[in-house]
Amino acid sequence: PEIWSAEFNDFISKCLTKDYEKRPTVSDLLQHKFITQVEGKDAMLQKQLTEFIGIYQCTGGSEKARHERLYTKKSNFSRSLISSLKDVDDLATLEVLDENTVSEQLEKCYSRDQIYFYVGDILIALNPFQSLGLYSTEHSKLYIGAKRTANPPHIFAMADLGYQSMITYNSDQCIVISGESGAGKTESAHLLVQQLTVLGKANNKTLQEKILQVNNLVEAFGNACTVINDNSSRFGKYLEMKFTPSGAVVGAQISEYLLEKSRVIHQAIGEKNFHIFYYIYAGLAEKKKLAHYKLPENKPPRYLQNDHIRTVQDVMNNSFYKSQYELIEQCFRVIGFTMEQLGSVYSILAAILNVGNIEFSSVATEHQIDKSHISNHAALENSASLLCIQADELQEALTSHCVVTRGETIIRPNTVEKATDVRDATAKTLYGRLFSWIVNCINSLLKHNASPSGNDDELSIGILDIFGFENFKKNSFEQLCINIANEQIQFYFNQHVFAWEQNEYLNEDVDARVIEYEDNRPLLDMFLQKPMGLLSLLDEECRFPKATDQTLVEKFEGNLKSQYFWRPKRMELSFGIHHYAGKVIYNASGFLAKNRDTLPTDIVLLLRSSENSVIRQLVSHPLTKTGNLPYSKTKNIINYQMRTSEKSVNLTKGETGEATRHARETTNMKTQTVASYFRYSLMDLLSKMVVGQPHFVRCIKPNNERQARKYDKEKVLLQLRYTGILETARIRRLGYSHRILFANFIKRYHVLCYKWCEEPPLSPDTCATILEKAGLDNWALGKMKVFLKYYHVEQLNVMRKEAI
Ligand code: ADP
Ligand code: MG
Repeated sequence: PEIWSAEFNDFISKCLTKDYEKRPTVSDLLQHKFITQVEGKDAMLQKQLTEFIGIYQCTGGSEKARHERLYTKKSNFSRSLISSLKDVDDLATLEVLDENTVSEQLEKCYSRDQIYFYVGDILIALNPFQSLGLYSTEHSKLYIGAKRTANPPHIFAMADLGYQSMITYNSDQCIVISGESGAGKTESAHLLVQQLTVLGKANNKTLQEKILQVNNLVEAFGNACTVINDNSSRFGKYLEMKFTPSGAVVGAQISEYLLEKSRVIHQAIGEKNFHIFYYIYAGLAEKKKLAHYKLPENKPPRYLQNDHIRTVQDVMNNSFYKSQYELIEQCFRVIGFTMEQLGSVYSILAAILNVGNIEFSSVATEHQIDKSHISNHAALENSASLLCIQADELQEALTSHCVVTRGETIIRPNTVEKATDVRDATAKTLYGRLFSWIVNCINSLLKHNASPSGNDDELSIGILDIFGFENFKKNSFEQLCINIANEQIQFYFNQHVFAWEQNEYLNEDVDARVIEYEDNRPLLDMFLQKPMGLLSLLDEECRFPKATDQTLVEKFEGNLKSQYFWRPKRMELSFGIHHYAGKVIYNASGFLAKNRDTLPTDIVLLLRSSENSVIRQLVSHPLTKTGNLPYSKTKNIINYQMRTSEKSVNLTKGETGEATRHARETTNMKTQTVASYFRYSLMDLLSKMVVGQPHFVRCIKPNNERQARKYDKEKVLLQLRYTGILETARIRRLGYSHRILFANFIKRYHVLCYKWCEEPPLSPDTCATILEKAGLDNWALGKMKVFLKYYHVEQLNVMRKEAI
């Protein structure tokens, strides 16, 4: 009945339109299936309906008074309609769609542990901060191919929706999960993968197991404990599951975006390094292998020293870390890594920690240049040995650099500061590239072994779990990148839910109410435009050797003529951005260095001479910068261009082809900045997303304390507001989220009205006949398309199933 209630609400609204012609007749009203269904079931509701019908039937008297009475009745009636349902599963069916009503509804349900809601076809997930036993095998079965209204809203229902749409329409799908840090995105992504492997009936048990391990493995390397979330993702992840056209899962591919490498060398107060470092420390200690990997047992390595860890014993004796180590080693094996590869991974991780322990002291030379000198040789020897390179060469590469002037190569000493930078850059690069290497290995191990004819008919469901919007006390370059990515995802959401839909009303001459929404396009332009966008300005400043973070901020101020940008007073290196999700003050200190992200050629060349083939692979890339640009990606980009021209996607100014251009530029270019690589990644990600039909999961964090059943109204309202959930509910109710070409509609649904073999004319009239026969209201016909409400499609599909 929930689905009828949404439809019935629409129907009743029509009884109140100003236009007499458009009002339903009394007999339409009496015969409405909702009314006939309610009969004898809900006395209260029935009474109110009868009163409403009574007034509706009665003609004569003042039209205004009649209208008012009807209106009051309607509100009463809608309210009891809502309370007669257990709880509202679909917020778009709420009669009153204001912040308070929606929030009340969420609060009421959340206190009873209902955490999932629909807004039309979008899923809202409130983080329960407790285990609710919602994900058992029974639950999994319940949501396979089930009618949406048959069960309460659930993340498994979204998996099913994606899966069924993929098969029904023979097209790629993509599930976009968004929400702030700690809202439950990563958990949701896991649950989707879990349910999709069930749906995909992986007859190959090993493949199923492998896919389920992927998340655990990459998260051990890419997640860390932050002040907000003990398992915070420090990278963006797009996992594509591959299926045959009949829906059997055949493989998986994963793309990673923007790993926060700076965490390797430094963590903010109250935060930790990437999980894997602690896991191996505890695991290797248990196996008595710390000495083998030259990991100190007396004092924590510098990169792990922070307020969390005082002694190495804290880490070594941690039983959780030990068990995680076992789990990760298991993941590596299940996915298909060799023991040799595993050994290399541990060596590289141990090398990173040892590199971090190298210390420098300054030695004055006769030329008055501060020369640096390595004061602890053990750390140097350990690092070199783990990296399979010569210690003296490593020392040389850290403490000096080559300059080429007038064709002559001169070796210059590094100051302590410079040597320290090189050391940290080496550690960051090694980690970033190790991460990419692991992801690449996973991808080749999980690649669908294509048949000789190729795998063009392969379908996919992508799941995007990207780091959420961040606003800390101190926000740096990493937060800026993360927030720009979120800005882009929000833009994509808006395009999909609002812009494209409303555009079609115009094009097809369909009468539908226009819904206002917050368009963040100007902001996105401010960041991404060339040559005057923030990222371009940053790159430009990086090219000036004399530039400083101060000149950078001044450059921003001088060039970014935008209401979304400002300079806070009395905060030297700061600038503020008014993001869609709120105001953030950034501190530009370190921006230039972070954007340049250089690793000296000497180090690269040295690592290329390593006797360990995995290490050689990490640096075999021609780029001297840390942004890895796998050449295989170019293929995707070209695909994107071809397909987008069909779909005429309007992303943001000048973006089409940007990724291709970038790929071409960077192949020829020796160096690239983090900003330009970031921009490329963003386009690459979007290119993957736009080829599929999107589904959205919006995660909401009910409180900052991570407490179960605690509902912080203000906090939730803020999230509802900036994600545009109310507007979404409105457009889902008033708009037509499904628009199908006449021919496609007739092909699919003619069985509801005609014989299977019959071929009715492909005309709007045929469509109308089918829709009327199906007993649906509130649809519309455009010039070329049938416009349907989100709830119609399910009704049609159910009837179609019954008919065939
Ligand atoms: P995000 O990826 O959005 O930063 P996570 O998915 O890591 O957030 O969730 C943060 C924490 O919230 C998890 O570690 C878990 O404790 C809890 N959590 C999130 N979703 C659920 C859920 N569906 N059921 C139980 N706990 C959850
Ligand atoms: Mg996460």
